[in-house]
Amino acid sequence: MQSLTNRSKPVERKPMTWVERIYIWNIFKGMLITGKHFLKKKPTIQYPEEKRTFSPVFRGVQVLNRDEEGRERCTACGLCAVACPAEAITMEAAERKPGEENLYREEKYAARYEINMLRCIFCGLCEEACPKDAIYLSETFAPANYQRKGFIYGKNELLIPDPKTQAQELAKARGQL
Ligand code: SF4
Ligand code: SF4
Repeated sequence: MQSLTNRSKPVERKPMTWVERIYIWNIFKGMLITGKHFLKKKPTIQYPEEKRTFSPVFRGVQVLNRDEEGRERCTACGLCAVACPAEAITMEAAERKPGEENLYREEKYAARYEINMLRCIFCGLCEEACPKDAIYLSETFAPANYQRKGFIYGKNELLIPDPKTQAQELAKARGQL
């Protein structure tokens, strides 16, 4: 067959020698490689009993933040959704009613806030875009799930526990317990 580049070379198929035919040398080489790995320190860890330490720049699952009084910081401005290159964030805004000042910091809040973890690329742009310090990427990752809808995180999964009423849950979420 005519070659376009003339770079291809026909491969010469040499007949196997008797040493190659009995495969002893190749088996020995394979065992040597296995033996070398057997003595090396294992990179596998016994998760979840054992946990890997992440790099300081690790970006994990998003957390919706509260202020020091436990009020939701998010004002549903939508900047995080606009900044998100993966279009993973969906939200619905609502007006704060009289008497809800202890729940929401601003006059407008996110009645619905969802992040699709299957779309998210953990770039951190939502955190960068937020003017209210309301969202940040934590040091945990989304656990496995058998259902796609299990990866759509709503406020129940994203909101950080209230520091005033759920101090223990908050410490646990921050990995302090
Ligand atoms: S980390 Fe990036 S991809 Fe994920 S929700 Fe935020 S902006 Fe979107
Ligand atoms: S998380 Fe921040 S940027 Fe996103 S809607 Fe709330 S206040 Fe706006």
